[in-house]
Amino acid sequence: MANLGIPQNTIEILRRHHVVIQKKYGQNFLIDTRVLDRIIQAAGITREDCVLEIGPGLGTMTQYLAERAGEVVAVEIDRNLIPILEETLAPYDNVTVINQDILKMDIRGLAEERGGRPLKVVANLPYYITTPIIMGLFEKNVPLESITVMVQREVADRMQAGPGTGDYGALSLAVQYYAKPEIVANVPPNCFIPRPGVGSAVVRLTRYHTPPVQAEDEEKLFSLIRAAFNQRRKTLANSLGNAPELGISRERTRQALEKMGLPATVRGEALNLEQFAELSRLL
Ligand code: SAM
Repeated sequence: MANLGIPQNTIEILRRHHVVIQKKYGQNFLIDTRVLDRIIQAAGITREDCVLEIGPGLGTMTQYLAERAGEVVAVEIDRNLIPILEETLAPYDNVTVINQDILKMDIRGLAEERGGRPLKVVANLPYYITTPIIMGLFEKNVPLESITVMVQREVADRMQAGPGTGDYGALSLAVQYYAKPEIVANVPPNCFIPRPGVGSAVVRLTRYHTPPVQAEDEEKLFSLIRAAFNQRRKTLANSLGNAPELGISRERTRQALEKMGLPATVRGEALNLEQFAELSRLL
């Protein structure tokens, strides 16, 4: 029976094992059963699912996952937590704990070993590597159904933002190319031990089978997007002209924008994903 969502039990485990909380690994342990239930519900876990959990910590969410999924693979970098996970996950025979850095792991291989079935990723992510983890899963073409994760509130807002808003940027476009983002819960700092200095949110990213826009060359599209937001106060023609790696003159960008019916002075933040894809085709 999952028992770690209750703060006293988490505190008891931390004390008994003399856990030194590693800030460098972004360790903020969840201690709120309602938040845990909400994450599991948003991820829609069933016995058919193989779940990849990134950073199980003490095993709090892992217990919830193990009680609902067919299989759980939990990848934890901190080897000091492994004996704790062995204890807290002992009642479950459908959990595999791997002591490794998720950024160095062959996750595609892991999915292939399990018959290539799309994985559901569920995690309370270490905030210092949120973007590389999520973009790594997408870019390495890991077979995925969805990613349901706790992230910094500000990052969740950026993932969901649309054109013309302050939060809109390269991360919004990159995430929205691969998946449909939805913020499913806001989570205050008092739901964690220790309390993080920022607000958090649970975001669910449902993977598209085919991207919502057609990009002839994904790499080119993303280089263009990155350059457009590197200098977001500048016009798009100037931002792209100032990125030597692209080799696109201001004039060429202005001509492409004219063909698209956009003003020469437009900024990157005004263009939606479809317009970036068209611009990338024209350039
Ligand atoms: N899932 C636990 C919970 O909700 O209480 C812990 C979440 S805590 C925010 C993030 C976890 O990710 C920590 O256990 C941390 O040690 C682990 N972690 C940090 N960097 C990692 C990495 N590169 N690979 C795997 N795990 C990592």
